[in-house]
Amino acid sequence: MNNIFSLFENTQKEEERPIILLADDDPSIRLMIRHVLEAEEYDIVEAEDGLDAIRAVEKQHPALILLDAVMPGLDGFATCKQIKERGHADIPVIMITGLDDDASVERAYDVGAIDYITKPIKWAVLKHRVRSIVNRVMAERKVQRLEYRDTLTQLPNRLLFVDRLEQAIVRAERHRESIALMLVDIDDFKLVNDSFGHEAGDKLIKAVGDLLSKSLRRADTVARLGGDEFAIIIENVDGDDDAISIADNLTTILKHNVRLDDQETFTSASVGIAMFPDDGMDAGTLLKNADTAMFRAKEQGRRCFQFYKPEMSVNAMERLELENSIRKAIDNNEMVIHYQPIIDIHNNEVVGVEALLRWQHPDKGMVYPDDFLPVAIDSGLIVAIGEWMIKTVCHQLRVWKEAGMENQSVSINLTTKQFKDQDVVTLFKLAMDEHRIEGAELNIEVTEKTLLAGEGEIEAILVQLHDMGMTITVDDFGIGFASLTNLKDLPIDVVKIDGAFVAGIPDNEHDVAVVNAIAGLTRGLKMKLLAEGVENEHQLNLLKGLGCQYAQGFYWSKALPADQYEQYYLNRFYNLG
Ligand code: GH3
Ligand code: MG
Repeated sequence: MNNIFSLFENTQKEEERPIILLADDDPSIRLMIRHVLEAEEYDIVEAEDGLDAIRAVEKQHPALILLDAVMPGLDGFATCKQIKERGHADIPVIMITGLDDDASVERAYDVGAIDYITKPIKWAVLKHRVRSIVNRVMAERKVQRLEYRDTLTQLPNRLLFVDRLEQAIVRAERHRESIALMLVDIDDFKLVNDSFGHEAGDKLIKAVGDLLSKSLRRADTVARLGGDEFAIIIENVDGDDDAISIADNLTTILKHNVRLDDQETFTSASVGIAMFPDDGMDAGTLLKNADTAMFRAKEQGRRCFQFYKPEMSVNAMERLELENSIRKAIDNNEMVIHYQPIIDIHNNEVVGVEALLRWQHPDKGMVYPDDFLPVAIDSGLIVAIGEWMIKTVCHQLRVWKEAGMENQSVSINLTTKQFKDQDVVTLFKLAMDEHRIEGAELNIEVTEKTLLAGEGEIEAILVQLHDMGMTITVDDFGIGFASLTNLKDLPIDVVKIDGAFVAGIPDNEHDVAVVNAIAGLTRGLKMKLLAEGVENEHQLNLLKGLGCQYAQGFYWSKALPADQYEQYYLNRFYNLG
């Protein structure tokens, strides 16, 4: 078996000076060999018999072993055989022997020695053979180190980690033990990079790696899998409770103890845990499941740990499938826009429409945004969908204008992600130019949450859109209406009252009171009120009485495909509907 597992126990030393193990029962020979080789900058470790030599190999992992063939107790041949059998086949052995007969030479090769030197030793020959072998071994080890170590933290990398995990699984199977695999990912690490620079980020990664190594037992493996993600193997775990206390300890330690440039930095990490054998019998499955659990820990608000549970995979799979099919849906033009009329309830005229996204799924039929928008937003696909929507709406407005439908305005919903991840102002400008659309023909709908999420950044974009002539509507209003006064400095024209309150009027007193209060506030702030989800005349009458200006809902029409809306509009216009 390739012995990567034990290769790096003395990484630090190997980088400085090669270690040579010298086993001979004759102290004067040891002294002379040491004298000759020390001039070459090797560290010489001496052993006076076979057992002593085996112990030293385990501890020091030398670059070369010089073995006297004839020693009391375990002789050189038996010692060499044992060293090779204990998993150190990669350490070359030179046998030193006074037995210059063919049989002894044959035996030396049989037990795994790569060379032999006869006594009396010719010092120049010894020096050259040792030098060429040690140079080769050190070069090989360096290559392996580069291949198996993460250069920033010097911790095992993914390749070595997987190898160690596989070996741990073999041991655990043999002894019927459990293993805990923990994935540790620093929370909001990008903020450190963004705020303090990449170098500070590197330091934090190193500091977290050190902290993890120090807080675990020596036998546990800590690796850096990449980025800000670490992995830990805890062998011989005594049930979930044992794993819980270790994970609890890790998350607590990381909360306060990371020092950057002598300054305590506030950091935290999320941990996902998969157990062998319950959550997977092989390294790949365990890693995948620990990753799923880690994702859940992030979802649960970070700075916590989560054990893997099979239902998480179902969710993760479904999510992944959904994400893939949304991606395909964009390419296959399966996304469509339906338009719901907005009515001025005082003169009963259609003043515009709200553009609502629908997904015409080839198998599932019409899919509504609640079922795919959260994933589209999380995965960033909303950016592509949003861009397509802006272009499509502007194109549609042009088509309607050509058909003689004047004074139409279309409301478009924008999410926080779109404000942050794309240049919506330029997108609108380009689409408006192409289809010769005026700002006044567009209305932007944003939720109260989006307005509060931007810390001025989103507000600035809204001001630009407003300056381009667009109106701005706060969507889903009502849940936190006390903050309406906070919105008074924003360029808001319309407040859309949440459909949940409209559903309760006129019978539910509480809902009536909320609608009344919002109506009063919007009037005071010189904003217009729009009610969504209006289904009957009672609601309509009450809303009219409260001074609500606009409304939409099934009472008039559901959201319609563009051509059907065109028909609806024309029917009403000619008083046919
Ligand atoms: P989350 O809480 O969801 O984990 O968010 P996060 O900000 O920590 O982001 P995430 O773990 O998804 O991404 C880690 C980031 O680390 C991505 C990359 O920009 C940065 N990164 C990756 N490798 C290095 C590195 O070697 N040095 C530094 N400074 N940054 C790195
Ligand atoms: Mg992270």
